[in-house]
Amino acid sequence: MKNKVLIANRGEIAVRIIRACKELGTSCVAVYSKADIDSLHVKFADEAICIGSERSTDSYLNINHIISAAIATGCNAIHPGYGFLSENEKFAEIVEKCNIKFIGPHHKVISQCGNKSMARKIAKESGVPVVEGSDGIVTDAKEGIKIANRIGYPILIKAASGGGGKGISIVREKNEFKKVFERTMMEAEANFGDKSVYIEKYIENPRHIEVQILADHFGHIIHLGERDCSVQRRNQKMIEEAPSPFINDDLRKQIGEAAIKIAKHVGYENAGTVEFIVDQKGNFYFIEMNTRVQVEHPVTEIVTGIDIVKEQIKIAYQKPLTYKQEDIHINGHAVECRINAEDPTQNFRPSPGLIKNLVLPGGNGIRLDTHIYSHYQVPPYYDSMLSKVIVHGKNRKEAIRKMRLALEEFIIDGIKTNIEFQYLIMHNPDFVRGVYDTSFISKFIETGIGDNNG
Ligand code: ADP
Ligand code: ADP
Ligand code: MG
Repeated sequence: MKNKVLIANRGEIAVRIIRACKELGTSCVAVYSKADIDSLHVKFADEAICIGSERSTDSYLNINHIISAAIATGCNAIHPGYGFLSENEKFAEIVEKCNIKFIGPHHKVISQCGNKSMARKIAKESGVPVVEGSDGIVTDAKEGIKIANRIGYPILIKAASGGGGKGISIVREKNEFKKVFERTMMEAEANFGDKSVYIEKYIENPRHIEVQILADHFGHIIHLGERDCSVQRRNQKMIEEAPSPFINDDLRKQIGEAAIKIAKHVGYENAGTVEFIVDQKGNFYFIEMNTRVQVEHPVTEIVTGIDIVKEQIKIAYQKPLTYKQEDIHINGHAVECRINAEDPTQNFRPSPGLIKNLVLPGGNGIRLDTHIYSHYQVPPYYDSMLSKVIVHGKNRKEAIRKMRLALEEFIIDGIKTNIEFQYLIMHNPDFVRGVYDTSFISKFIETGIGDNNG
């Protein structure tokens, strides 16, 4: 039987996966909601099938519709992309039961790692440091206050099923605890269908450093180095780079080995990311594991020369990894800016609508991952990310210079975007020196730079 992959996603990542399939000579099928009929992923795939109406719950989150589409088109694998059903263990299990390969780890591994509180336990068992916190889920405010007193404020209350920076609340003092605890549980239930929360110490101004893992069906596990994703707004990444300008080779080695320990411990298969926060002193702590391809995977592809999405597909079809750890070398520096349909002068309010004119940047060492084109209508129903600009320089300075040029060339008319905001960051002295942590964006906005209202 010829290999055929259904792509259970939309937007730039669907386009990215289609390209990987085509390079491998594997047929691919796109699925789309009624809002996405004119989307690039629909045009680029070998076949496309409508799976429902605009709302994600009727289409990209609808397991029955997606499985039916895969069976109807004769697919023998499903790539879930990121977001949507990518970390849904029930979906992975149903896919496997239908004799279709799920391009990701086994559903049992997803359930172990996807629950963030359970993942902490796994990290601990693997001998990897975790942020001080509760031993598991906390269901009672009184018990939570006891734990918070032991750890010391400020603390975070985090949804065990949270993701995308949502479901995380800070508590700065005891008398706020109960209110924030109850609110976070309610929000977690509403957003993730699971009200369970856990507690972590709040590390002041850390760096977010994550390690890309690849693991094949035969137990070979390697890592592809780290990414620094500390430029975040409200715990959501905005700019990512590889390698991290913050860590030295010794710490790099320790964090890489820690990530592999966790992956081995759970019998991980396929691509995954182990996320850490690193405090000002260089202590690192596990925070969570993402059992899917990540938005920022291109920066790692660029500095290692490895196509992570092609590897994902090959691993799912039980091809062995052709790289050993010693084959992985980091070449130069890569930076990615996420370009979103949002208005930075209106508190980053989403700005869907018609793209009247589009000029994409290009040139040596510039990569554009996107699904937009001139006269494309950005629908209001989904994530506001339109494009990723990724640059490769021989060093960090050259990469930043290239990013400035790319952002200068990039024109999206008709809707608001954060292109200029990103451009200003590329000129910020602290960013340019590589001296920044997860509080960077909020300080950047507070000081008025990039805020046209202030
Ligand atoms: P990455 O971890 O790859 O950097 P993000 O955290 O930005 O990616 O999430 C990627 C996408 O997936 C975003 O659109 C985000 O909103 C969505 N997402 C991530 N986790 C979840 C989740 N648990 N539930 C719903 N959406 C999620
Ligand atoms: P998500 O599943 O939404 O990606 P994470 O647990 O990865 O959630 O946290 C998202 C971001 O929130 C991190 O990248 C970091 O900036 C911040 N964060 C998470 N945990 C802590 C912590 N204990 N202390 C300080 N910041 C944290
Ligand atoms: Mg995370």
